[in-house]
Amino acid sequence: MALARIDLDTRLVDVIGRTSANALGGKLELHTVGDLVRHYPRRYVERGKLTDIAGLEVGEYVTVIATVESATTRPMRTRRGKLMNCTIRDAKGATLSCTFFNAQKVQSFIQVGRTLMFSGTVSVFRSGRQTTLQLTHPEFEELEEDAEDRPFISIYPATKGVRSQAIARSVRQVLALLDDPTDPLPEDLRQEHELMPLGAALRKIHVPQSEADRHAAKGRLVWDEAFGVQLALSLQRERAMHRPAAPSPRKAGGLLEAFDAILPFPLTAGQKSVGEEIAEDLGRPLPMNRLVQGDVGAGKTVVALRAMLQVVDNGRQAAMLAPTEVLATQHARSLRAMLGPLGAGGELGSSDGATRITLLTGSMSTAERRQALLDIQSGVAGIVVGTHAIIEDTVGFAELGLVVVDEQHRFGVEQRDALRGRGERTPHLLVMTATPIPRTVAMTVYGDLEVSALTELPKGRSPIRTTVVPAGEKPSWLERVWARIREEVAAGHQCYVVFPRVGGEYANPKKKGRDPEDAEDPDDAEADGEDGERRPPLAVLDIGPKLAEGPLAGLRIGILHGKLPADEKDAVMRAFDAGELDVLMATTVIEVGVDVPNATGMIIMDADRFGLSQLHQLRGRVGRGSAPGVCLLVTDMPGGTTARERLDAVASTTDGFELARLDLELRREGDILGSSQSGRRSGLKLLSLLRHENVISEARLSAARLVASDPGLAHHPGLRALVAETVGDEESAAYLDKV
Ligand code: ADP
Ligand code: MG
Repeated sequence: MALARIDLDTRLVDVIGRTSANALGGKLELHTVGDLVRHYPRRYVERGKLTDIAGLEVGEYVTVIATVESATTRPMRTRRGKLMNCTIRDAKGATLSCTFFNAQKVQSFIQVGRTLMFSGTVSVFRSGRQTTLQLTHPEFEELEEDAEDRPFISIYPATKGVRSQAIARSVRQVLALLDDPTDPLPEDLRQEHELMPLGAALRKIHVPQSEADRHAAKGRLVWDEAFGVQLALSLQRERAMHRPAAPSPRKAGGLLEAFDAILPFPLTAGQKSVGEEIAEDLGRPLPMNRLVQGDVGAGKTVVALRAMLQVVDNGRQAAMLAPTEVLATQHARSLRAMLGPLGAGGELGSSDGATRITLLTGSMSTAERRQALLDIQSGVAGIVVGTHAIIEDTVGFAELGLVVVDEQHRFGVEQRDALRGRGERTPHLLVMTATPIPRTVAMTVYGDLEVSALTELPKGRSPIRTTVVPAGEKPSWLERVWARIREEVAAGHQCYVVFPRVGGEYANPKKKGRDPEDAEDPDDAEADGEDGERRPPLAVLDIGPKLAEGPLAGLRIGILHGKLPADEKDAVMRAFDAGELDVLMATTVIEVGVDVPNATGMIIMDADRFGLSQLHQLRGRVGRGSAPGVCLLVTDMPGGTTARERLDAVASTTDGFELARLDLELRREGDILGSSQSGRRSGLKLLSLLRHENVISEARLSAARLVASDPGLAHHPGLRALVAETVGDEESAAYLDKV
C-alpha cells in the first residue's frame, strides 16, 4: 500500500505504526511528525568510531558506543540466576561499569572485544573507598550494519525502552514520506545569512552526509530559534512603545535630597553613575526597563531606595518585590531603618513630607492586611514592600510609578506583562540581581532590558575563603566542619548551616512539583528515586536536631524554613539578627538578601544539590562585616564528576561574573531560557547562549528591522508561527493579540 504524503502535523501513529508511535509518545512525548523531526540527535559518531565517556553527567540518560573490556558472571546471592558485571571503554581508555541481572540472556552478545551501543542512566557506584561511574539498568543493542550511505551514526536523546537506533529508524521512515515544509523565512533573509532551506536542514540534521552538512543544517535551525526569540522580544518592545509611562523627574527639596543628606556612607562610583542613569530614565515618559547587576553586597538596596524616593517625590508610589516573604520583611525593616524619620509618615516624630513604608504579605492578619491595603489605595504608603503577589493580585495602588524587583533574575516576560497590563500608564521597572547575566542572556531572555552594572564593592569588605569538603572520601573532614563552627562561635561570630530540603513532617517524596525553596537539583530528581542509587537530599528538619544534640550541642541553634508560619520565621530571623542565636540551620529561604554582618560561617550541606549561582548567593550571606568569612561546601560526590567540577568552580573564584560564565558552561542551557521554567516544552533545542552570541546579535538586528516594517507580522504568517513554536503558544499568542 502506498502511503499518502505526510506533513508536520500528521500523527506519528498514522505513519510508523502503533507500537513505535506509542513508545515515542509515551516515553518522549513525541506525538506528531513535527515533534519527531524536531527531536534532533544529541551527537554523531563516525561509523567505526567510539563515543567519549569522559564528561558524562551523573543522572543523565546517555547512549554510548563502546567496546567491552571485561565481562564476568557470578551467581546471584539472593535470587536464582546469574549476574554479569562488565566494563566498557572508549577509544581514550575511559571506562564505565555495567551490571546485567540476566547474564544467561546477554552473555552471548556481551563478549570482550565487541563494540555495542549501550544506554542507561549515569550513576555513581561506591564500593568501599572506591567510587566509579556506572550505567544503571543498561540496555544495549548491536550496531546496524547496512548503512554505507550514512557515514555518521546519529545518537538521539533516548530513554529506557526507546533506544537511539529505534528513534533513528522512525525518523528515517518519516523523512522518506515528508514533503519539505514551507519555509517561514523570507527568501532575502535566507540569502543574506546564507541559510539552508528548512526542509533540507531538517533532513540533514538527522542524516548528514558530511561534517559540512551537519554544520549548515544546525546553523539554519539555530538561526530559527534565535530569530523566533528575538522576534517575540521585538514585538513586545514595539508594543511597549505605545504605552507611555508617567515621568517622575528629579525634584529639588524632596525626600531624595533629604535622604542623601543623612546617608551614613559615601556612595560608590558605581552607585552614583547607575543612580544617574536611573534618575534620567525615571524622568522620561517612556517606561524604564533597567536591570542593575551588582555582585552580592554591592549595595543595590540603596540604589533602589533612591529611585523609589524620586518617584515618591513626584507624588507616586513605588513597589519593591522580593522573592520570599522573609526577604520582603527584612527589606521593609531595613528600608525603615535607613530612612529613619523620613520613612515614618503618619507617625509621631516623623519629618515633614515623610512617606510611609508598608509591608504587604500573604501571611499578615486580616486586620493588618486591611490597613495595609487602605494605605496603598489612599496613597499614604509611598513605598510598598512585598512578594510578587502584590502585583499579581488585585491590590489597587493610588498611582504606581515604579516597580523594583529584587534578586529575581528570572522575573519573566509574563510578570512584566502583568505589570504593563495594569494601568493606563506603565510603571517604570527596575530589576536588581546579583546573578550576573552574560550579554547573550541579557539579549535573549531580557531582550528589552537596558543593563547597568555596579562593578565595585563598597570599601572595607572582608574576603571569604571557600573550601570543598569531600565528606564521602574523607569522613573525618566532617568533624572539622563542626569544629570550625564552634571556633567561629567562640570568636563571637555566627554561622549558617544550609540544607537542600525541609524534610520532617513536610517530606513527601511522591510529590510531583518541586518546592520553590528546594535546591535546584542539577540532576534529574526522578532518576534518583527510581534507581535508589542516590539518597534523598539532606533535610534541615531531619539532620538539624541531630547536630544540635550531637556535634553542635550547647550552641544556641535556630531553624528556619519556608514552611514555618510567617511570624515564626520573622522571630527566628530577628533572633539571629540580634545575636541571640549562634547557628541558623536553614533551607534556601536565606538565599538572597539576608544581611547579618556578624555571621561569618556558611556551611552548605549536600552542596552539589544546589545551582552555582545559588551557592554564590548563599556564600554572599557571610563576609558582610569586618571579620573574614568562611564557606564550606560539603558533598559526597566523588572527584572527577561534573558535580565536583561545579563546586571547585565556586571555590576557585568569588567573582560572580566569572562564575556566571562557568555556570553557563556547565549547566544545561534550557534552564536559563525563560520558557522552560514554567514547565512548558521549549522550542529552544539547539540555541546556546554561550556559543551563539553572534547569531543572537544578528537575529536581534534582523528581527528589529522586520518588526519595524511589519509591526504585527501581518504579512509574515510563517514567522508568526515561528514565534509561537519558539517561545510557546500562550506567550506568543498573548504578544500577537496585544500588538
Ligand atoms: P546587595 O547589593 O547584595 O543587595 P545591600 O544593598 O544589601 O547589597 O548592601 C550590603 C551592605 O552594604 C548593606 O549593609 C549596606 O548598608 C552597605 N552599603 C551599601 N552601599 C554602601 C556604601 N557605598 N558604602 C558602605 N556601605 C554600603
Ligand atoms: Mg540585596
